[in-house]
Amino acid sequence: MSFDFDLFVIGGGSGGVRAARVAAQEGAKVALAEEDRYGGTCVIRGCVPKKLMVFASEFSGMVSDAQAYGWNIQPGSFSWNTFRGELYAELDRLEGIYRTLLKNSGVETMDQRATVKDAHTVRLADGTEITAKHILVAVGGRPTKPAIEGAELAITSNDIFHLETLPESILIVGGGYIASEFAGILNGMGVKTTQFYRGEQILRGFDNEARTHVANEMIERGVDLRLNTNAVKLEKAGDQIKVTDTHGDIRLFDKVMFATGRVPNTDGLGLEEIGVKLGRGSEIIVDDYSQTDVPSIYAVGDVTDRANLTPVAIREGMAFVETVFKGNPTKPDHELIPTAIFTQPEMGTVGLSEEEAAAQEPVEVYATSFKPMQQSFAGRSEKVMMKLIVSQATRKVLGCHIVAPAAGEMIQLAGIAIKMGATKEDFDRTVAVHPTMSEELVTMKAPSRTVG
Ligand code: NDP
Repeated sequence: MSFDFDLFVIGGGSGGVRAARVAAQEGAKVALAEEDRYGGTCVIRGCVPKKLMVFASEFSGMVSDAQAYGWNIQPGSFSWNTFRGELYAELDRLEGIYRTLLKNSGVETMDQRATVKDAHTVRLADGTEITAKHILVAVGGRPTKPAIEGAELAITSNDIFHLETLPESILIVGGGYIASEFAGILNGMGVKTTQFYRGEQILRGFDNEARTHVANEMIERGVDLRLNTNAVKLEKAGDQIKVTDTHGDIRLFDKVMFATGRVPNTDGLGLEEIGVKLGRGSEIIVDDYSQTDVPSIYAVGDVTDRANLTPVAIREGMAFVETVFKGNPTKPDHELIPTAIFTQPEMGTVGLSEEEAAAQEPVEVYATSFKPMQQSFAGRSEKVMMKLIVSQATRKVLGCHIVAPAAGEMIQLAGIAIKMGATKEDFDRTVAVHPTMSEELVTMKAPSRTVG
């Protein structure tokens, strides 16, 4: 049977674009449909604009730091309008690069929604039907709001980049990556920021000591973090939003943002109708090779709800091409993924938390917290934290957690050593780079405690 294409990719985000390009470079005839902007969540409404907002917000503390170092400069004001204009221009530029990359690889792009009709056929929004030997679903996810009264008054992370003006006050609901990152960003931009989290501590699942350190520093910097608190009702109050919380307290905010999780974009794609199995959260169920229950259909990235991170989606896309187009069955590796949370302060983490490690085996914990030189000189009270979790049996470093400026940069490098199976003694044998913050990772001599 002959098909119009060897591969039809639905979704032009990180995973889909990479798979399409690499498959085309292998000589496959590839088409890709995207209903929105090329680059997907990461480039258009996620990692990239978020990180640029982190950079913008961090300047707020720099003037007083510079003054402490002898610079005669005065605080200015932040123009959201100017920043937003530059941000939009940068996103346009990046989207252009994604389009060019696809074009130059020979991928045929279709700027419309595509759904699946059968195991080898997709239907475009304009009614065209196209056949392909393989279909790759890489449609990502979207933010979800809790079903509470007045939820429609709140925005999500999709809307935050498009605000006409910065609000004077905002309530952010949630305690995950997105809520905690935006609490820091908006607080840094001068917005009076309140964060509600329904549980005991934000960033559930991460190392307890590290997330507590982040939370305490966020509070120190001005975020009004309210733990064990959730929003139960939102009402319009003039230009503001009246929020009732779980304790019955009522407060007014200019904006409310829900960062209460994301759901896969599988609605109306036609997948279940043809036998592709979806999980309880509507994610596509795939095997270790990203193959669905319909053998010609694969899925990668957030729509499969494995590790919802851009570099992971890219890896999954590459492994799919390796498997299907290069005859080399390859499983994406989901072990020991280093990751950064761009809270203020930033957190970098790889491997097991102290709690996870202790539940698994006896471990030594090496932890230190100190005032870094640069900030200490500027009179800031903030502290950084470095922590290693070490297996007592094998001496391997099972986890590394860093809360510090540029923790994301540090954890990338520590991640290589840990992925290679480095032991505590390997860390100790490495000469310190002095004077840096990260030298503490190779100079912690005695364990702070043993657990497990
Ligand atoms: P998360 O799943 O990380 O966090 C959702 C948060 O919302 C949790 O704190 C959760 O609480 C809370 N929540 C869920 N439902 C409700 C509710 N009904 N009422 C109140 N609170 C609720 O989702 P995010 O949206 O923050 O991020 C999605 C994913 O995107 C992340 O898991 C990550 O993979 C990725 N991401 C990665 C980034 C990075 O690498 N730096 C940055 C941003 C996103 P509870 O803990 O109690 O369940």
